[in-house]
Amino acid sequence: MKTIGVLTSGGDAPGMNAAIRAVVRPGCECGMKVYGINNGYRGLIEDDLQELNIRSVSDIIHRGGTMLHTARCLEFKEEEGMQKAIDTCKKYGIEGIVVIGGDGSFRGARDLSLRGIPCIGVPGTIDNDIVSSDYTIGYDTCLNTIMQMVDRIRDTVESHSRCMVIEVMGNRCGDLTLNSGIAVGATAIVIPEISSDVEKHVIERINRTIKTGKKHFLIMVAEGIGGVAELAKKIQNECGVEARSIVLGHVQRGGSPSARDRVTASLMGYEAVELLKQGIGNRVVVMKDDKIVNYDIYEALNMERQVNSQIYKIAHEISI
Ligand code: ADP
Repeated sequence: MKTIGVLTSGGDAPGMNAAIRAVVRPGCECGMKVYGINNGYRGLIEDDLQELNIRSVSDIIHRGGTMLHTARCLEFKEEEGMQKAIDTCKKYGIEGIVVIGGDGSFRGARDLSLRGIPCIGVPGTIDNDIVSSDYTIGYDTCLNTIMQMVDRIRDTVESHSRCMVIEVMGNRCGDLTLNSGIAVGATAIVIPEISSDVEKHVIERINRTIKTGKKHFLIMVAEGIGGVAELAKKIQNECGVEARSIVLGHVQRGGSPSARDRVTASLMGYEAVELLKQGIGNRVVVMKDDKIVNYDIYEALNMERQVNSQIYKIAHEISI
């Protein structure tokens, strides 16, 4: 391929910039023309792109967010929007695209591939919810951000002998909640994958922990469950402990990417452009057993998520 594009789509994630950089530089170095497509698929529909060179991606490796901006673009799901996107690719001679985003973005990539524009998906989302990949770019940074924020919350919760019910991002995936819950020693963790009788479960755990002499409690709840204010009220009424709630919100998305995210993003971006260089499309670059591999995009989107209930069990046994 002589001309390729790169875009970031869906939710932004720290490390997306490192992935863009790792696509652009090897692409340019081997003589390809590389276009940065702005605002995800919307940039293709609205003809909003820029040619990038090796210096265009200087000084971005340490920055959160994405220099290409991102968007959720509903028009792209319609045939008319898709056709406009294909017309833009033809106009610029774009023969292949690296799509950095989540499973939704991969579905868009699959649809573009079906219409003759080969795409390579690179998993970029803080949620770690891409079924085909053990790891997604941005997850480690986000996990550390949550841990640091909850450590601060813990200081005040401990001083006042309170309970704090904390809502954590993650869409329908509980990985951020589960692993941050382990990292902060949460008394209870509530995730969508294992979520029967939430209130009863949390109240039982707090009451049991009170008997061991504990006076302050951190309860981590995934956004896919929600209802943290109501849960805090219930805890206050039924456990006799002052309880508050907090939604950590968008602060979880930002910040300078961790070393793990920069390195993983760099390796994945590089692999994606290597595939396009060889004329290979319709793949996703993923992490499997600590190795970077690639799968067929259709197969990747049909994989089923495995829940690690052993980790959930361990989390509860050690956080009493
Ligand atoms: P993520 O990529 O983080 O999962 P979304 O699910 O919001 O985020 O998807 C990002 C974008 O990908 C959407 O706004 C849309 O442009 C495109 N997209 C999502 N699902 C599809 C689909 N089924 N077909 C075509 N495009 C899609």
